[in-house]
Amino acid sequence: MGLLALGTPLTWDETKPLAEHIRNHGITQFLNTWDRWKDKTGKGLLWGDEIEYMVASFNDENKQARLSLRQTEILEKLQSVTLDPSLEKFKPACCAAIPTFHPEYGRYMLESTPGFPFSGNPSSLVAVEADMRFRRQIIRSHLKNHELPLTLTAWPRLGVTDSAFTDPDTHPDPQKSSSRSEYVGELLTNPHARFPTLTANIRSRRGSKVDIRVPLFIDEKTEIPDGLSALKSNGHTNPAKPLSGTPYIHMDAMAFGMGCCCLQITFQAWNVDEARKVYDALVPVAPIMLALTAASPAFRGKLADVDARWNVIAASVDDRTEEERGLKPLKNDRYRIPKSRYDSVDLYISNDERNKPEYHDIDVPVNQAVRKRLIEHGLDDKLASHIGHLFIRDPLVQFSETIDQDDVGSMDHFENIQSTNWQTIRFKPPPVNSPIGWRVEFRSMEVQMTDFENAAFSIFIVLLTRAIISFDLNFYMPISKVDENMQVAQQRNAAVANKFFFRRNVFPLDRSPARFDLASRPVSPPSSSPTSQTHSRNQSAAVNHSPNGDINGGDVPQTSHDRDISESSSTCSTPIEMEAGDEAAEMTLDEIVNGDSGSFPGLMGVVNAYLNSLNVDVCTKCDIRRYLDLIKYRAKGQLVTPATWIRDFITSHPAYKKDSVVSDEINYDLSKAVDEIERGVRPAPELLGKDYVGSGPTGCL
Ligand code: ADP
Ligand code: MG
Ligand code: MG
Ligand code: MG
Ligand code: MG
Ligand code: MG
Repeated sequence: MGLLALGTPLTWDETKPLAEHIRNHGITQFLNTWDRWKDKTGKGLLWGDEIEYMVASFNDENKQARLSLRQTEILEKLQSVTLDPSLEKFKPACCAAIPTFHPEYGRYMLESTPGFPFSGNPSSLVAVEADMRFRRQIIRSHLKNHELPLTLTAWPRLGVTDSAFTDPDTHPDPQKSSSRSEYVGELLTNPHARFPTLTANIRSRRGSKVDIRVPLFIDEKTEIPDGLSALKSNGHTNPAKPLSGTPYIHMDAMAFGMGCCCLQITFQAWNVDEARKVYDALVPVAPIMLALTAASPAFRGKLADVDARWNVIAASVDDRTEEERGLKPLKNDRYRIPKSRYDSVDLYISNDERNKPEYHDIDVPVNQAVRKRLIEHGLDDKLASHIGHLFIRDPLVQFSETIDQDDVGSMDHFENIQSTNWQTIRFKPPPVNSPIGWRVEFRSMEVQMTDFENAAFSIFIVLLTRAIISFDLNFYMPISKVDENMQVAQQRNAAVANKFFFRRNVFPLDRSPARFDLASRPVSPPSSSPTSQTHSRNQSAAVNHSPNGDINGGDVPQTSHDRDISESSSTCSTPIEMEAGDEAAEMTLDEIVNGDSGSFPGLMGVVNAYLNSLNVDVCTKCDIRRYLDLIKYRAKGQLVTPATWIRDFITSHPAYKKDSVVSDEINYDLSKAVDEIERGVRPAPELLGKDYVGSGPTGCL
């Protein structure tokens, strides 16, 4: 999270009068960077992931798993390790550098990044998993014997009141703690001044504690609080936010959201225009990847009726006042603001003519003074509006020592606003005094329990960005539909049960799909093909990660979606109103990822086409295929999401009482199982395929 420079943090009452100063200088700083960088090109792809971990502390005698609050001590060791030359000899040959470790919001959390960013060439992609494993191994070696690093998105028992959930035990202090939470104590938050200040200032600005509600999953014996009634289950499509009068899980602190772990990918573009194009193309991809990576089915000791963290984290930092939220008429505040500062992207930013006004069909407040200033400086309206939109927000944390800055040598005021606009995609301008250029960050994904999965999703996203650039793909669709997808993506079992909007007509007008060489796939008769909706869980163990499924698309098993994409067939889509050929259609995740039976190649189709266009050796192709297959089969529903796996583990646990409760004992067994899966000692073919062995790709480790 942003900068961690030391200083004296100001309260909200002290920060508020500085807001305009910080915004003004933030824009000056951005413009200085703009002038330096607007025409610079030629840096090329470098990219890196961020993986977040929870440190769990186990008491095997009592069968208890707790969140270990030793972040400060552990990080001190990890950061000095980074400088330890003796580590070099354990470094996998394919890793570029000793990794780096960072603090995160929760005092039980760690973040790791590669020591040096990866390149995009395929042989470097197959080293990503080894790098991630190296990081995990370094963390492990610096924990106590009873501690383990887990890449769980949400700790199922964070904030329970029937037992301790931290080690050491902590207690809420609703009168004095920065969050005023009834459920979590101050010690859960990273002690660095930035974090408690952020927590307190969000609450102060909002005028009340944050109020987080996720629908409760209703089982046979679930206790339903008086006055509420269970929603009649409408298949798998219960809404991701609780309807009024229905039971929900209540949370009341930033820690419930910012204490979740995610997987983020940042990559550098050739120049600002490329960054803006890729940013736009990834906007509609964000909810799709949220659904595919969904990993958080339980909060505060109960099973939720959602599979993903997004609404929880959005509500956990929602600093909007009642006026801004539309609960009162605007009097003291300037804008009605439809979304939390942590939410999906509101505006496409590319100057591409395919970025049409009609895609901007939601209400987006913009700081018009900022927008005007940027336009007068020579920026185009699209980018000026984007920055103007970010700058409707107030700064949340300001240190008294850094109020006045050198606007040429610092981007701190700009970053103050930018880094607390937590959207699905982030457009990152170059830092000052650094060779690093324009970057884009992909931020929607939940962290996966194994580094195999984390590597797979990282590699997939990077290859997808290469395909977007190489083929000049058009993924534009109305932002309102992207927002609908964000909600749908969080619903229980969304990856299998739900349909999402996605653009079908993705190729540039002047090029026919044939040019993309997607036609080398085997043809199977449609009559023998199950449709994606009928795929069942029971098939999952049969998935074979054999290297026979090569990058040219020799796919097993065959379905109608594996047919030659040039074959025409009837469409299953429901176009929404758009110009002919410009529609977003409703499709299953299988169709969006693996292609439909018509002209839509799917995200995997364009990734395959990109790989086909490169000269990649067979061995590397096989290694990459292993990762892409995970995504392919998960999209088909033949491999389950982590959320489904965790939910199934809980509901099939002998101690589960069909009451939606994730007990201490279940949580302990789950945490142990998650670690065992990662190490490859507990098979989970339904999640990872039957060939997962818990080690990196051949030829690397
Ligand atoms: P954040 O501000 O999102 O917390 P971090 O510094 O934690 O950012 O992580 C940024 C990621 O970007 C890391 O994985 C890092 O390897 C990667 N990275 C570093 N330099 C570059 C670069 N020049 N281009 C692209 N990515 C880079
Ligand atoms: Mg982080
Ligand atoms: Mg980071
Ligand atoms: Mg950060
Ligand atoms: Mg307690
Ligand atoms: Mg990040």
